[in-house]
Amino acid sequence: MSAKIISGKDVSAEIREELKGRAARLKEKEVVPGLAVVLVGEDPASVSYVTAKAKAAEEIGIFETTIRMPASSSEEDILKTVDGLNRDGRYNGFLVQLPLPKYVSSEKVINLISPEKDVDGFHPVNVGKMLRGEPCPLPCTPYGVVQLLNRSGYSPEGRHVVICGRSNIVGKPLAALLIQKKKGANATVTVCHTGTKDLPRLTLQADILVAAMGAPQVIKAEMVRPGAVVVDVGVNRVADPSSAKGFRLVGDCDFEPIKEKAEAITPVPGGVGPMTVTMLMMNTIEAAERAAGLAA
Ligand code: NAP
Repeated sequence: MSAKIISGKDVSAEIREELKGRAARLKEKEVVPGLAVVLVGEDPASVSYVTAKAKAAEEIGIFETTIRMPASSSEEDILKTVDGLNRDGRYNGFLVQLPLPKYVSSEKVINLISPEKDVDGFHPVNVGKMLRGEPCPLPCTPYGVVQLLNRSGYSPEGRHVVICGRSNIVGKPLAALLIQKKKGANATVTVCHTGTKDLPRLTLQADILVAAMGAPQVIKAEMVRPGAVVVDVGVNRVADPSSAKGFRLVGDCDFEPIKEKAEAITPVPGGVGPMTVTMLMMNTIEAAERAAGLAA
């Protein structure tokens, strides 16, 4: 039987409705949640992510500003912008869209963001809090994966989750979230990477398999246990002369054959992608609620 398709669009829409209500409650208290997004240069993928963030913010009732800086901006210019946003009371949160130009230290830029306004959840203080299971803004993509699983009826509790990829923005924080002794987490986690020997031996043990490698369709059906739940975080552009753009997006999983074997699978696009943007909105609303003294 064909797998259930886990729609990130549908789950996102459900969360965004909840967020609209929370934004409206903040407005009753004369608090308008504010988000700033700093975009340096015009990398097409970054422009499209930033556009999606602005659109989602508007839909929810978050005051959003995109600060566009030229690709030639110096590290000092970017640090000054961050410093200004740390002090700007209109914004409860902001982020600097990555990647930055090569000569700019992303680490320096991220470290300067005030942890309370770090809605991407990348500041080392927040990374530490997340690992300890303390309240903090959570990195949007792994936070989105956890929400997507739980809200689709595939709780990771007690399950063996195998994550392929150990980046600081997806694999490592996802492992940190899933091992917490908390409702909606409490999983047993294995993290794989290019140093892993015999990857299929491990992926075949997964109740929930997460692919976050940035390697097009490398997870094949024979690497998936029948009945597993598969979450494909990868977004890869592959040449497609039949498409008007000359490319199409594929995940890290070989979707069609895996669909015939798995219990459920996220599509690319329309799976994890919309969740990432939605969790950024969640972090912004939560930052505004904390600032207004309304947080639980
Ligand atoms: P990354 O920084 O390049 O990390 C990739 C990770 O995968 C590394 O840990 C690497 O291992 C591992 N890896 C790569 N090829 C492998 C292979 N053949 N076997 C085993 N491990 C392998 O990538 P990222 O930033 O985490 O992003 C991963 C993917 O998710 C990308 O396609 C990206 O576009 C996508 N993404 C999507 C969203 C979204 O919202 N949908 C958000 C973020 C990222 P080593 O550490 O050993 O090098």
